[in-house]
Amino acid sequence: MAELRALVIVLGDQLDLDAAAFDDFDAAHDAVWMAEVAEESTHVGSSQPRTVLFLSAMRHFARALREAGRPLHYTALDDAGNHGGLAAQLTADIERLRPQRLVMTAPGDWRVLQAMRGVAEACCLPLDIREDRHFFCSVRDFAAHARGRRSLRLEYFYREQRVRHRVLMDGDQPIGGEWNFDADNREPFGPEGPGRVPPRSRFEPDAITREVIALVRERFADHPGALDDFAWPVTREQAQQALYRFIDERLPRFGRHQDAMWPGEPWLFHAHIAAALNLKLLHPREAVAAAEAAYHAGKAPLASVEGFIRQILGWREYVRGIYWTQMPGYLERNALDAHEDLPAWYWSGQTDMACLRDAITQTLRHGYAHHIQRLMVTGLFALLYGVDPKQVHAWYLSVYVDAVEWVELPNTLGMSQYADGGLMASKPYVATGKYIDRMSPHCRGCRYDPAQRKGERACPFTTLYWDFLMRHEALLAKNPRMALQVKNVARLSDDEKRAVVARAAAVRRGEVGSTSHE
Ligand SMILES: Cc1cc2nc3c(=O)[nH]c(=O)nc-3n(C[C@H](O)[C@H](O)[C@H](O)COP(=O)(O)OP(=O)(O)OC[C@H]3O[C@@H](n4cnc5c(N)ncnc54)[C@H](O)[C@@H]3O)c2cc1C
Ligand code: SF4
Repeated sequence: MAELRALVIVLGDQLDLDAAAFDDFDAAHDAVWMAEVAEESTHVGSSQPRTVLFLSAMRHFARALREAGRPLHYTALDDAGNHGGLAAQLTADIERLRPQRLVMTAPGDWRVLQAMRGVAEACCLPLDIREDRHFFCSVRDFAAHARGRRSLRLEYFYREQRVRHRVLMDGDQPIGGEWNFDADNREPFGPEGPGRVPPRSRFEPDAITREVIALVRERFADHPGALDDFAWPVTREQAQQALYRFIDERLPRFGRHQDAMWPGEPWLFHAHIAAALNLKLLHPREAVAAAEAAYHAGKAPLASVEGFIRQILGWREYVRGIYWTQMPGYLERNALDAHEDLPAWYWSGQTDMACLRDAITQTLRHGYAHHIQRLMVTGLFALLYGVDPKQVHAWYLSVYVDAVEWVELPNTLGMSQYADGGLMASKPYVATGKYIDRMSPHCRGCRYDPAQRKGERACPFTTLYWDFLMRHEALLAKNPRMALQVKNVARLSDDEKRAVVARAAAVRRGEVGSTSHE
């Protein structure tokens, strides 16, 4: 066998034939390495849909590599002698293949980067880590943006990105005269609901996906989530189809109702492309360009287009910058000193709180919930309840098909749980059940009343909101953006405060909210 020059490592979320790792790839001398390992599905108990998506997309990408004539060493999950972990598998394969060097595109996760460096060092091989060109902003450029700033706000970063990449710009001014059309984008649906919602892009499982589904059902039978309705894109072609259908059918209504919720309607006017982007099946530049083109062609209003572009060119890049400039310490942060266990019904949906039941049930069924369901339903409840941020992080990383740590962790720990003490969000995203009542009809079908904070019918969100303000009064009083909310605590009588605390304790004991006690 000819000597192997470079072994190009491709991880499960690096499924891009044009990645930097392939820049000087020569099929006569180099080979690609990929491995399915149980550790990646067990370190946080990955849900069944998430594991199927990763494994199926990897197997489809392996087929694309072979078709492109790139030699591949691929270890499947059920191969005899699978070493079970990325580092162990790579070490064993290096001993067998004896490459001169290792090449890879920068991994998304800090843990994986350390593991790959550890293997290279132990095997005395050079490891060439290349820039991930998938992103608009490099980690180095984000670090330069962050230098000297005490807090990091999206808005300044986002404007810089717009100017730098010339997106929705008219000379040096934003198209439409504003950088941000969020004020137009917060409408609930009227009493008649969302009306006709275009059907979701479905990709029926082919033979590869069906085989993976059977494997995951067998190997990870005790992992959460259902597979009966698995229809996510698993190839680049499918991911592109999903993007262009979104642009044609949903983007025009994306902005206006971006924060709205409706029972039994998981898909609404969102794009459902986060998983395809995060696995690198889809390039963020093509998503941004397609949305901008739709605006210029008069097919979608500016508020929708700007709102969508801000999510990708702004938020997605910004959370990646936060992750890489704050790790590894970020994972350990717990600014609100929260230590409660995550209620068990997060894994089953068995709660009598209508909004949470709907969000969790669809999450377990599809591996999907839209941003406001994640932030203002499941995330808000965990924050008010005082759940240990690491447990909240483990839940989000497990249940969503688009979950990868670099994007999930800052969203969960920073934006949703305020565990970084305000690095990302200028104040905790806290609200009573009335917010959910405004953005959805859930409360009308719920046994609780969002306007009540104490008593038998008190909405647990509302009770826990007041309990949260009382528990963190000293800290929150220092935050000018929370001053008004904190002041309202002083208006409560001592009896009322005691009643709130007692009911909050009952919620935490599982006597309210959980259906397992019934
Ligand atoms: C607690 C919590 C956990 C989250 N975990 C993840 C995660 O693991 N993976 C993930 O990709 N997103 C995560 N998000 C961000 C966001 O909720 C999802 O990207 C979005 O709901 C995915 O659905 P969609 O593709 O239909 O997005 P759309 O609403 O249609 O938005 C379009 C795209 O913008 C990007 N985007 C939107 N909001 C964000 C954001 N806040 N951060 C980064 N990118 C964003 C996504 O790539 C998304 O596909 C999380 C948000 C919260 C509050
Ligand atoms: S009353 Fe409270 S628990 Fe019930 S749906 Fe409304 S916000 Fe959710």
